[in-house]
Amino acid sequence: MMKDDCIFCKLANGVFDTNVIYEDGDFTVILDVNPATRGHALILPKEHYANIYELDDETAGKAFRLAKKLSTQMTEKLNCDGFNILQNNGEAAGQTVFHFHMHLIPRYKDDKALLQWKPGKPSEDELKALRDMLKTN
Ligand code: 5GP
Ligand code: ZN
Repeated sequence: MMKDDCIFCKLANGVFDTNVIYEDGDFTVILDVNPATRGHALILPKEHYANIYELDDETAGKAFRLAKKLSTQMTEKLNCDGFNILQNNGEAAGQTVFHFHMHLIPRYKDDKALLQWKPGKPSEDELKALRDMLKTN
């Protein structure tokens, strides 16, 4: 289902014109209008899901397969040196458009396009407590 006030619903379903590099029954892939690097693209499902928590397993699987296929093809075509797949959920994580999307970001040697995080130094006890809290199957 499309959400009326969602820009990515409109772009993914051809309501607004944009630069499409791939389309199938489930997804539209477009060039980011404010790219981090040359070739930065966005995988948009045609259905509206606000974030990863709303995504069904089948669509999640298809999205990652598509990310693999396109990052491989884009690396060849752009001759980039590396590739980030980025996916933000929630404002605190940097999400600004609340329709699930995956960033395909070609990287070029020394492009300094994305921030590196400052590595933390948790104690062994803290890591063990976290492991016990998060362990799942
Ligand atoms: P987020 O911060 O939500 O993970 O990423 C949103 C991305 O969408 C940003 O990189 C931003 O440049 C891109 N974006 C926002 N509005 C538009 C638009 O109207 N067209 C296109 N092509 N990209 C957009
Ligand atoms: Zn939407």
